[in-house]
Amino acid sequence: MRTMRAVVLADDGPLRVEEVQLDGPEAGEVLVKITACGVCHSDLHMINWSRQAGVPAPSIFGHEASGVVEEVGEHVHTVKPGDHVVMAFKPTCGKCFYCVRSMPQLCERPDNRDRSARGKRPRLTMGGKPVNQGVGVGGFAEYTVMPEGGVIKLRDDAPLDKVCLVGCAVTTGVGAVTSAARVEAGTPVAVIGIGGVGLNVVQGARLAGARHVIAIDTLESKLELAREFGATHTIHAEREDPVARAKEITAGYLDYAFEAIGLGKTVEQAFEMIRPGGIAVSLGINTDKITIPGTALLQEKKLIGSMYGSVSVKQAIPRFVDLYMNGQIKLDELISKRRGFDEANEAFEDMKSGAVARSVLDPKL
Ligand SMILES: [Zn+2]
Ligand SMILES: [Zn+2]
Repeated sequence: MRTMRAVVLADDGPLRVEEVQLDGPEAGEVLVKITACGVCHSDLHMINWSRQAGVPAPSIFGHEASGVVEEVGEHVHTVKPGDHVVMAFKPTCGKCFYCVRSMPQLCERPDNRDRSARGKRPRLTMGGKPVNQGVGVGGFAEYTVMPEGGVIKLRDDAPLDKVCLVGCAVTTGVGAVTSAARVEAGTPVAVIGIGGVGLNVVQGARLAGARHVIAIDTLESKLELAREFGATHTIHAEREDPVARAKEITAGYLDYAFEAIGLGKTVEQAFEMIRPGGIAVSLGINTDKITIPGTALLQEKKLIGSMYGSVSVKQAIPRFVDLYMNGQIKLDELISKRRGFDEANEAFEDMKSGAVARSVLDPKL
């Protein structure tokens, strides 16, 4: 049992730095000392949900984490102490219906849905009470214990304080372009919502050789960043009608639109702006109802969801790190701010106001 510092949501007040106990690793598990963890919109969604539900149990959020393997349990073969790793918030088992059909992003392993299915003892406790490992990783802490399928070994020369972003934003955004939509070179792409994931859709589209990359947001600072990441056109959605303008730029032949906010209304816009036969992709957590006209289906328009970039993380995460090391994708420019655990609330405030592309929490600060 190890005592460590972590950012905990324990009641409807702000996040607090607390001492918590971490148990393990048991067989098939890996203990990782966390170097850095990005602050993602999905954490905010989950924190808001917990607050609405009256915070049923204390939780540690954070799912975009990198670190160094400290200890491995029995039967762990793919990593060893000292290895540099990124955590995958959706671990894969390699055995279930989806894993054997090459769709590990939909893995059904029971502890993806319920961490308490792990065994007799809770992995995390605070004052004897179980603590949720929120969003699968619990990355806003000094250490985490993950199943082996949620720990991805990286090359040793990759800077751990930056490649944490490959754990969510890069994989979700770039993967949606290359694996979910399979964007063809020479075709136009639009992206609604230029946060950490949206910027990665922009750079994924550039990487795929898209003809136009149209970035849509309501903040000029985000549109500026999108241009830096390879957007050829930007639309300020409060000043112009994004659907009409995207259709105008592409003469009505927009092949792909990505929605990276998680709102019903913007998914409907993405679907409306694509051409007949085009593909609209919804990324991230969305709890809204989505209404689309049935007649659009006769035009063979497709609306698809993408989970974790629709990739096999074991294969894709090291590949995305290689792309960064080769200078083909940007990470440094995505990290606007590094903060210590005691500034976690400020990091979420920065996200809400749009002041940052991404903040990273560093346990050492
Ligand atoms: Zn995320
Ligand atoms: Zn599986």
